[in-house]
Amino acid sequence: MNGYFITGTDTDVGKTCVTAALLRNLLDAGHHALALKPIQSGCRETPDGLVADDVEIYARFSTPYFPNGYPEACCHRFAPACSPHLAAELAGTSLNVNELAHAVTELATGHDLVLVEGAGGAAVPLGNKQTMQDLMQRLDLPVILVADNKLGVINHALMTIRMLRDSGLDIAGVVMTNTTRPDTQGILMRRNNTETIAHYGNIPILAEIPFIEQIDFDAEYIRHMAPAIRHLTPSPADDSDDLTFDRDHIWHPYTSAVNPLPSVKVRTAHGSRITLEDGTELIDGMASWWCAIHGYAHPALLDAARTQLGRLPHVMFGGLTHDPAIELCRSLCDMTPNGLEHVFLADSGSVSVEAAIKMALQYMQADGQTQRTKIFTIRGGYHGDTCGAMSVCDPNNGMHHLFSGLLPHQIFAPRPTCRFGEPYDPASLAETTRLFEENSHRIAAIIVEPIVQGAGGMYFYHPDYLRGLRELADAHGVLLILDEIATGFGRTGKLFACEWADVIPDIMCVGKALSGGTMTLAATVATSNVAQTISKDGGVFMHGPTFMGNPLACAVATASLEILQQGHWKTQVHAIEQRLETAFGPCRDLPGVKDVRVLGSIGVVEMDTPVNVQRLQAAFIEHGVWLRPFGKLIYVMPPYIITQDEVSRLGSAVFDAIAHHIHE
Ligand SMILES: *Cc1c(COP(=O)(O)O)cnc(C)c1O
Repeated sequence: MNGYFITGTDTDVGKTCVTAALLRNLLDAGHHALALKPIQSGCRETPDGLVADDVEIYARFSTPYFPNGYPEACCHRFAPACSPHLAAELAGTSLNVNELAHAVTELATGHDLVLVEGAGGAAVPLGNKQTMQDLMQRLDLPVILVADNKLGVINHALMTIRMLRDSGLDIAGVVMTNTTRPDTQGILMRRNNTETIAHYGNIPILAEIPFIEQIDFDAEYIRHMAPAIRHLTPSPADDSDDLTFDRDHIWHPYTSAVNPLPSVKVRTAHGSRITLEDGTELIDGMASWWCAIHGYAHPALLDAARTQLGRLPHVMFGGLTHDPAIELCRSLCDMTPNGLEHVFLADSGSVSVEAAIKMALQYMQADGQTQRTKIFTIRGGYHGDTCGAMSVCDPNNGMHHLFSGLLPHQIFAPRPTCRFGEPYDPASLAETTRLFEENSHRIAAIIVEPIVQGAGGMYFYHPDYLRGLRELADAHGVLLILDEIATGFGRTGKLFACEWADVIPDIMCVGKALSGGTMTLAATVATSNVAQTISKDGGVFMHGPTFMGNPLACAVATASLEILQQGHWKTQVHAIEQRLETAFGPCRDLPGVKDVRVLGSIGVVEMDTPVNVQRLQAAFIEHGVWLRPFGKLIYVMPPYIITQDEVSRLGSAVFDAIAHHIHE
């Protein structure tokens, strides 16, 4: 949709006449334009129903262009002249931004340019804690602000401009109106008001409408709005240049620099939906690689970021500290299993794994066990892309062969054969135990992803196996590192996956969902034993990233943890799990499918052979969903706020893609 959203500093600014006059100028300039009024309160009651006065004004200004009458231009009409949220409530209904946005898009069909006029200002409530600003964001049109030139206008205009910019909206400019007759002194002040708004708000004045007598009212408005057209560039930007630059100059994850898999451009994302540049809306099945658990643009996370941005976006953590870090680490100590009490803040999951490995090695050094320098792990794991982390990733499907000269050699046990949900066979630990005991004198720590091996194969193993690893570590004085970067914060149905086995690690890594998918942040949390041993005899832990403890990321993470602490995630994840079972079950019968498995809010379809990512991605977008398969795996890991219906749509998209697109 192409056009402008028109809002005002208050309700009496002549916004409707500005909209109508702009519409007329656009029509005169050859556009197939239309002005829309999604919500009209204060409608006249007539025998034929409620009449929206504003739409009548659009019609009056542009009569020659609509000989058969003005098209339908209003989605909701209410009689009381009050705020939309109350008007809707009195009418026994409610307004919803998604529904409004779709209705507006419908009405706009067939027009090359629309003017959408809000009701009142940007902060006007629509109900359900949604405001006009949310609708503006959802429509994502550049905004024209109409401000009535009178006492107080500077403050109102600058506040609105700040608010709109903070919510990521483009402001095309300001139209100044004069709805009251100024006296001589007033004329001077009004000129200064206009200049001040332009200067302080850093914004163009599109047009100034003087006080107009009733005579020739419409024509005068149209004449004075004409200059605005010059400032407006209503053709949608052509982004093919951008995508060419992207393809030629930007590395994307795990794809060629010269012949990459295609990238799709995203404009915005809200809740469980991602909106592409061309307006296509996709149901998000990935939560941006497990991160965005509360959905995109969660108001609490955005508020936390904005507030912190205004206070202190960053400061070095060496010798300085701040509330956001203290508050976050306090929450982490509270939420992680008992005994984990020392938090190291890192800027990504991989770095938190590096920190965990270094902690384990420094622990053994400080303890006088200098021969213990190896890390013990299981095959099929994934712990990140930095060197220490890569050294404990699966040696076959990881990147070992590329970096064999560089990576330290670690000790690998077989992938656990005992699956989650099946009876436990103690024999599955036999080879692991043998390897461990044979090497225990060299081992500083065991590192594994608890219960779910993520990027290494989306494989779920038995909690008793994890318990067995804890016992082996204890019996031999080795540390246990649990990498909860993918599984932490509710994904598997427990707050942390180690709770499935009642196992508490010596060191835990968290990341991904830690900041609710908004900022890059991770943490390595250790027991007092680990921290005290490393710090013995003046020892210090030797790691300190530049952006350690970034206040912006910490503030957002604290807000995310607060949402989790309210506890809804449990019911949400449980409901997703149940629906995933029914939505993905039918895939079991399709040819080429090896296994279908579900745990918490993770659903996995494993194929016999690797899938064609490019073709599948296109098929999924066609289906209105966003999924990114890898290897033989098609999987979903949606945000916890996803609806049951949306989960079903993910399931049918996957079913359809496997049935029709895999073997083409
Ligand atoms: C994603 C992931 C990492 C790496 O985190 P980054 O933030 O990508 O560096 C490490 N371990 C596990 C289990 C992961 O899923």
